Amino acid sequence: MKQKQLCCPICHGNKAEIAGENVKISGRFEDKEFLTTPLTVLQCMQCGYYMFFEKSAQFTEKNS
Ligand SMILES: [Zn+2]
Repeated sequence: MKQKQLCCPICHGNKAEIAGENVKISGRFEDKEFLTTPLTVLQCMQCGYYMFFEKSAQFTEKNS
């Protein structure tokens, strides 16, 4: 298990809430369809940006 310091790529905030777990995203690119492995979706509490992580990732919590 790896630990990851949460950091929003947009506002560099470190607070996020879980918006979804075991989320699979499907899409289409040109003539190919794809489906991701289960992801954890976090939403930045500062700017609302959605971040997608592999289910195995763990996060450290930092309270300011
Ligand atoms: Zn943010």
